[in-house]
Amino acid sequence: MASNLPVSAERLWADLMALAKVGGTPKGGNNRQTLTDLDGKGRHLLRGWCEAIGLTMTVDRIGNMVFRREGKDPSRKPIAIGSHIDTQPTGGKFDGPLGVLTGLEVLRAIHEAGVETDAPIVLINWTNEEGARFAPPMMGSGTALGFLDEAATMAATDAEGAVFGEELRRIGWQGKADPASTVDLEAYFEVHIEQGPTLERDGISIGLVTHALAQSWFDVTVTGEDAHAGSAMATRKDALVGASELIMAVERIAIGHPGEGGELGRGTVGTLTVMPASRNVVPGEVRFNVDHRHGDPKALAKMNDALFAEAAAIALKRGLKIEVTPFWESPLVPFDATLLEHLAKAAEARGHSARRMPTGIGHDAVYMARKVPSALIFVPCAGGISHNEAENITIDWARAGLEVLADAVLAAAGPRN
Ligand SMILES: [Zn+2]
Repeated sequence: MASNLPVSAERLWADLMALAKVGGTPKGGNNRQTLTDLDGKGRHLLRGWCEAIGLTMTVDRIGNMVFRREGKDPSRKPIAIGSHIDTQPTGGKFDGPLGVLTGLEVLRAIHEAGVETDAPIVLINWTNEEGARFAPPMMGSGTALGFLDEAATMAATDAEGAVFGEELRRIGWQGKADPASTVDLEAYFEVHIEQGPTLERDGISIGLVTHALAQSWFDVTVTGEDAHAGSAMATRKDALVGASELIMAVERIAIGHPGEGGELGRGTVGTLTVMPASRNVVPGEVRFNVDHRHGDPKALAKMNDALFAEAAAIALKRGLKIEVTPFWESPLVPFDATLLEHLAKAAEARGHSARRMPTGIGHDAVYMARKVPSALIFVPCAGGISHNEAENITIDWARAGLEVLADAVLAAAGPRN
């Protein structure tokens, strides 16, 4: 099925390096946070590249940019390629831009070869994927799809009190289109760096993402009793010692609940607040968060049950009160089997090794897959490092992602079977 569309990894690389100059940091990373002047500058650069190959731009009310190339069949909805150009404050050059600029290079190659597709093809740059300046992450896609409320998105504030909607207008990127029209698509593709070490370690060029892990997040409050550090051990109700037992249990629970096929869960405690936080006071209250993820929703439910059971047992044993409160949930999200098949065939035809794998990390494609047939393609990143100025990939990894994307997009935009 190889289309042999002559895409150029060298041109893609030149675009990546040119965009990385906008908000480049001394350590070789990028600080191009969403809705800053630098984000605006990056958007103008992208617009220029897209308009040079005849794409027409539409911007929606939350700043998502859509560049369109018409197809022959007016009844078809667009095949989309997307990602984001916003970065973390000490971000890298590839998390996000790789997905947008591989899409640009595919459309440029199609333009130059004069290929006419049946379905239109669009390139999307989502607003605020990172969530670093305005929370939550994946705001552009989440709002367009209706998972997030548009008014709440517009009213979101950053740490300095700047308002999302005002910043969007200030940098000149609020459009008039209904965000719902941005996601009225036949299919969606996204290329992204793995943000983990496995592809590089195993020498695999392409990760074909089969599903996003189901997630459950909890708030935990352990309440004991403040006491003098000179008080006897036997009478204490030490909230931190109880919390420590439960944190150790989180690791055990994740390892102890394999799903179908033996895949393990993931359990993380990423925050801890100790009160009153005085060196000579036995802590009376501790708060922390638990993040559970699993590729098997039944095993995830068992992990959640085990967390409640461990909390109750520790509370009883130590005379503490332990409250475990559900905070947020995300279902297991499968990616589209037909699109995965296009990608697998493309990888084989172009001679790139590929592996099917889940993602434990959120992406715009994970939101998209809940409403639009979607595919997520991983390429390796050096040492698995991302959200870091040292984030790096090779031009050959970029080439693999680009070629596989090109062939799969042409297959999807061709005649319907
Ligand atoms: Zn990203």
